[in-house]
Amino acid sequence: MDEHAGGPVPHAQVRVDLSAIRDNVRELNIRTGAAEVMAVVKADAYGHGLVPAARAAQAGGATWLGTAVLGEALALRAAGVTGRLMAWLCAPGERWADALAADVDVSASAPWAVAEIAAAARETGRTARLHLKVDTGLGRGGAPRAEWTTLVDTALKAQADGLVNVVGLWSHFAIADAPEHPVNTAQVAAFRAALAAAEARGARPEVRHLANSAATLMAPQSHFDLVRTGLATYGLSPVPDAVRPDEVGLRPAMSVRARLALVKRVPAGHGVSYGHFYVTDRETTLALVPLGYADGVPRHGSGGDGGPGAPVLVGGRIRQVAGRVCMDQFVVDVGDDDVRAGDEVVLFGDAAGEPTAQDWARACRTISYEIVTRFAPRLPRTYVGEEPQR
Ligand SMILES: *Cc1c(COP(=O)(O)O)cnc(C)c1O
Repeated sequence: MDEHAGGPVPHAQVRVDLSAIRDNVRELNIRTGAAEVMAVVKADAYGHGLVPAARAAQAGGATWLGTAVLGEALALRAAGVTGRLMAWLCAPGERWADALAADVDVSASAPWAVAEIAAAARETGRTARLHLKVDTGLGRGGAPRAEWTTLVDTALKAQADGLVNVVGLWSHFAIADAPEHPVNTAQVAAFRAALAAAEARGARPEVRHLANSAATLMAPQSHFDLVRTGLATYGLSPVPDAVRPDEVGLRPAMSVRARLALVKRVPAGHGVSYGHFYVTDRETTLALVPLGYADGVPRHGSGGDGGPGAPVLVGGRIRQVAGRVCMDQFVVDVGDDDVRAGDEVVLFGDAAGEPTAQDWARACRTISYEIVTRFAPRLPRTYVGEEPQR
């Protein structure tokens, strides 16, 4: 439902199609067969809105939700979201007792984390659901392979004491977006070895999980019991040069649109926006878009200084950002097109003919993850496709 229906139309908005999220998860579930789907909803569901996106993913069959930090997981519980939920990025002194009280699965990559979690379990009388993470090659989180069995033994000792249940063993890919890269094969082999070592010492996990979106789409041998899909949940491709979303049955859930705040004719030779990196080469019409980097429009999408700006759809045509993206606004040169203040401009969307988040990523030399995740609280979000339950 459009939450602005009947009210004033916002000057700009992030529109999120919850039915796209639901359908994308359904599609991913079909691809993964017996493996379950964890919808990764960290970072405010990649900018799509934590709670509505989580509910839409559950409606599509996600039996797990995943967040990075604990605060995100607790916010889901506070909103009444039930079901399996894991938060994996914690620092010493974390609010473990709150995690246990809220039935949030936690993760440990080192014995100190197991000790803190066990202490919280002893304090609260609740058994922690614990996932152990091994570094199979990413070189980021996870226990180094040399310290894996120590971590496993520490956790199994706490399990024997009734303080934790080792419910998951997991790891994360480094280069899943290049499926032919030998690091992927090495990581799967290292993961299998880590699982075997843990199981030989007595671990009996419910779920073993390794795959992110790219591996979910391209590497079925990495699915194990559970896949953790972030970007694909939102209908974007983690491998844009190899797989278009529509080729794998996914459609983007987010579009960013605004209404032109001002339209005016200017003569040839007119500098546009801070620094005058764009100068009109003829008499033309400039259209002002009331969105800027404070809203999440990347300043790298500026045009005129070494290349064309990022694309927008205005007046039925793809145009480029002209000159610098400012804090609150940017300008588009629309030539002689008949556009008016109040007309809609689409930065990126989901319909044919609209630029995509990937187009913005390319123009800004980044990844679509960063484009959608940047869009900020100042912009109203409108949900379509499903009633957001609160
Ligand atoms: C963010 C994240 C994911 C999801 O990655 P995508 O590429 O968006 O699917 C999965 N696992 C972990 C540990 C993550 O941090």
